[in-house]
Amino acid sequence: MEVIVGKLAGFCPGVERAVNMALKAAKENENVYCLGELVHNRQVIEELEKKNVKTVDDIKDVPNNGIVIFRAHGVKESIYEISNKKNLKIIDLTCGKVRIIHDKVKKEKDKSFIIIVGDENHPESVATKDFAGKNSIVIFDDSEIVDAYKEFESSGLDRVYVVAQTTFNLKKFEALSKEIEDNFCEVPVTIDNTICSATEERQIETEKLSKEVDTIIVIGGKNSANTQKLVDISKRNCKNVYHIQTKDDLTNVSFENTKKIGIVAGASTPSNIIKDVEKFLMEM
Ligand code: SF4
Repeated sequence: MEVIVGKLAGFCPGVERAVNMALKAAKENENVYCLGELVHNRQVIEELEKKNVKTVDDIKDVPNNGIVIFRAHGVKESIYEISNKKNLKIIDLTCGKVRIIHDKVKKEKDKSFIIIVGDENHPESVATKDFAGKNSIVIFDDSEIVDAYKEFESSGLDRVYVVAQTTFNLKKFEALSKEIEDNFCEVPVTIDNTICSATEERQIETEKLSKEVDTIIVIGGKNSANTQKLVDISKRNCKNVYHIQTKDDLTNVSFENTKKIGIVAGASTPSNIIKDVEKFLMEM
């Protein structure tokens, strides 16, 4: 059986930096708190916990004068204010590409109604929406464009600015952008494709690889949005798709009729997990 590992499988630059910096902070300090899971990967979180990096869901759970990590997804603008009031030392690991989106929407929010194309529950979109202020909406598909238009009308603004969650599916963003332009026909609409190139390239590689193999393994957290997108792309092109978190999830899978198998991985999957899966398959 031939095993092909996607060249872009694994940590993206933003996650790589966040994990390295969090481990460095853990080495240099006694107690470090991370607001939300640093990455959507159980194994990485467990390793950080062993090194005294505690994950908390609410900034209130970080003791005054403590040390807090903001992860690559970014946090709401209001979290910075609360942290300063609590006199926290902030280790801000917000990815540079996410920070650029925050700056863009902050600059635009008094001039334009802002549409964020993304998942309204994803931490990155939650943070971006906060920076974009009250005249903004997060939409995931075209059924929400009518709501966006109603909110735009009541905002009193006369133009629209569209950005994307960095991990959003490129094709879906392009289709939705077109729908937005068609529905806001008399209104000037600026489309700003803020999808991260690391995400885009990974999706393109997955599209290509999933057409070439008869089975594809997607490694990544079940709650990782970018991993889920790789699963969706793979399912469009390949009959046998397995979304796993570690090699142990493959123990009972038979690859009897498989000749060519592909491996791709989400942006928060460490390289050692990918190597374990590759080794496991090579030894079958
Ligand atoms: S996917 Fe892109 S934007 Fe998101 S953390 Fe990684 S490098 Fe940054």
